[in-house]
Amino acid sequence: MYNVMSSKAEEFISHEEILESLAYAEANKNNRELIDEILAKARQRKGLSHREAAVLLDCQLEDKNQEIYELAQQIKKDFYGNRIVMFAPLYLSNYCINGCEYCPYHVKNKHIARKKLTQEEIVKEVIALQDMGHKRLALEAGEDPVNNPIEYILECIHTIYGIKHKNGAIRRVNVNIAATTVENYQKLKEAGIGTYILFQETYHKESYEKLHPTGPKHDYAYHTEAMDRAMEGGIDDVGLGVLFGLNNYRYDFTGILMHAEHLESYKGVGPHTISVPRLRRADDIDPDVFDNGISDDIFAKIVACIRIAVPYTGMIVSTRESQSCREKVLHLGISQISGASRTSVGGYVEPEPEEENSAQFDVSDNRTLDEVVRWLMEMDYVPSFCTACYREGRTGDRFMTLLKSGQIVNCCHPNALMTLKEYLEDYASKETKAIGDALIEKELEVITNPKVKEKVIDYLANIHHGERDFRF
Ligand code: SF4
Ligand code: SF4
Repeated sequence: MYNVMSSKAEEFISHEEILESLAYAEANKNNRELIDEILAKARQRKGLSHREAAVLLDCQLEDKNQEIYELAQQIKKDFYGNRIVMFAPLYLSNYCINGCEYCPYHVKNKHIARKKLTQEEIVKEVIALQDMGHKRLALEAGEDPVNNPIEYILECIHTIYGIKHKNGAIRRVNVNIAATTVENYQKLKEAGIGTYILFQETYHKESYEKLHPTGPKHDYAYHTEAMDRAMEGGIDDVGLGVLFGLNNYRYDFTGILMHAEHLESYKGVGPHTISVPRLRRADDIDPDVFDNGISDDIFAKIVACIRIAVPYTGMIVSTRESQSCREKVLHLGISQISGASRTSVGGYVEPEPEEENSAQFDVSDNRTLDEVVRWLMEMDYVPSFCTACYREGRTGDRFMTLLKSGQIVNCCHPNALMTLKEYLEDYASKETKAIGDALIEKELEVITNPKVKEKVIDYLANIHHGERDFRF
């Protein structure tokens, strides 16, 4: 039975409730009156229920779909302005004991090169990332209690935070590792992680169990309840995601919103981020065997509807998506993107030869960070390397309070401009720097509080003269 407040996966992600929601959405996909009501509610910027959002996702009325896209764009502008937060994944180890059918790291893949970074190798990878200009990382590792125990992950985090190279620093380490115990989440919290990210892959239990035939990940309930345990362990910021293409997208779209509702109701804080990866080709994986692939248009609709349904949740798109696809969804709701990603273990120092493929998936967007930053600025986005909230202790509900206060413009925007300025001074090409400096000049006008603006102008001058790490 559906119960948003239950601690049991099968009750807060109720299969029956999803099926009923999908039937309701299907029955109402041309119901102009209802869609108008839902849009009116969405315009209050307080979000939508999973059922209401499912109706918008299914909506077949062209003029209403146009309204959906326009509203998503407006909400994106209101909450996130034109800022896009930059990050990079760092693959620590591809040893894994799980049997996930869609991932080349699955235990039965015997020809993939297995690698695990030593602490010395991590230093080299992180210096390479710092030399690009990255400040925010997402750590990735397979599940393997022998090769990648929690102690290894903690040691890696400690190493990463300790690396100081020229003006480089990793200021926020997010972690994407397998579902674990409350005690281990406490340890991750103590190690100073930012967001704990765990993709559900699919909320459809039966498909989930088939796609994960072996290994600890097979346990649907343990996996689905992981975010509750993470929050119990003190981690305020959690990141959800499904892998679109594994299962019916309408089902997983509804499931992920139900998960967000559960965290908000049961734990008092909704998810910090939602990621929207799509299945990609990889070693030993042929996406054609999964027949749930979604078109770019449906992908864009999903992004827009999530933006409307959970306005306070950041949305992430990775280099799995091509430049053109990323361009299309940026304005509909994406607030974070990865740049210049390497999805192989050790790939930042040494891009690996074909025959030694240890990558988790093929990257579609292969540009350098400098190119990605310039591309964003040419479209009038402000690439941001900001990590201020986490470092000021504004996590969980305190972060949400900032978002809801409308003071973002006097906080995020200055932070974005200052961290962009650091990037331009330390890492950008001449051409990118010229574009960026002009953009910062223009964007200073967006700051409404005159005192803040004055301070920012001072700080920017200090950054130009070599000082670093100012923040609001
Ligand atoms: Fe292992 Fe994660 Fe890949 Fe599954 S998706 S095989 S758990 S690395
Ligand atoms: Fe994100 Fe906080 Fe920085 Fe704003 S100030 S961009 S919410 S980290």
